[in-house]
Amino acid sequence: MPLQEGRYCPYCGEALRREAADGGDLPLESLKPACAACGYIHLDAPTPVAAAIIEREGQVLLVRPQGAEHFALVAGYPEAFESIEDAAVREVREETGLEVRVERVLGSYSCEPMGRNLVLVVCVTTLEAGELTLQAEELAEGRWFALDSLPEWPEEAPLHEVFRDYRTG
Ligand SMILES: [Zn+2]
Repeated sequence: MPLQEGRYCPYCGEALRREAADGGDLPLESLKPACAACGYIHLDAPTPVAAAIIEREGQVLLVRPQGAEHFALVAGYPEAFESIEDAAVREVREETGLEVRVERVLGSYSCEPMGRNLVLVVCVTTLEAGELTLQAEELAEGRWFALDSLPEWPEEAPLHEVFRDYRTG
């Protein structure tokens, strides 16, 4: 029996339902909400965000977005077909004017504690060239922090775990 989801297909507007396409007997909860009209399947996958730790002489660059209270990593959404590493390099260039090289991927961090269905994929990068020139529409401030004097973050912020991993890894 189809289950009304209260959600609608973003492409054709039909109600999304959980229904086994082949009439199989999988439990409804295991099925993705889908549109019978056009075949769209609603995935609950988190949206990836590419983030960069930028190292320079034992310090890391953090930025404070316009209107934000706290500092954060330079980060942004990957474009179509772009790798996380390429997205991190591009976001750093666009937002700070700096050229960086990705050394490694530190890890991925769920933003569930902040109530956002995002997964932060953090790249460790080193500074290659450029002068710090903030993209003023998006960023209010950029500052180099020593690792032993990082700014305060709310308890639920994934940056606690990010920098714990960074220090130990
Ligand atoms: Zn549809």
